[in-house]
Amino acid sequence: MVLGCPEDLLSLATTYVDNAYAPYSGYRVVAVLRDVHDRVFVGVNVENPSYGLTVCAERVALFSAVTAGARRFKEILVYTSKPPPPIPCGACLQALSAFDEGGLRVYVHVGGGLCESFALAELLPRPFRL
Ligand SMILES: [Zn+2]
Repeated sequence: MVLGCPEDLLSLATTYVDNAYAPYSGYRVVAVLRDVHDRVFVGVNVENPSYGLTVCAERVALFSAVTAGARRFKEILVYTSKPPPPIPCGACLQALSAFDEGGLRVYVHVGGGLCESFALAELLPRPFRL
């Protein structure tokens, strides 16, 4: 058991990590997003030979959730099996912030290590807003 990490999200993350498509960096990431109705959505990073087209696991999970009609979220676990810790990038934080009502929790975990936990606002204190 990893203290602080939701075990069900961690279990899903370890199940899906090998599905990440990371032939260039070798850095496989999984994001598991839970909405307020306890539905979970999984995303993996998808790299592209045109590097700018690469999409992070967090946005894949978020866009899948939004496609399914989810709009309000409780937490997201971002997982990788080897260092460095997968702290979400600025683009993903901004994308998540559009659906944050002030309580979205971000868990970051490297396999075999500790689980770090942040409020989204700690990682992105001043998101862009229209
Ligand atoms: Zn990102």
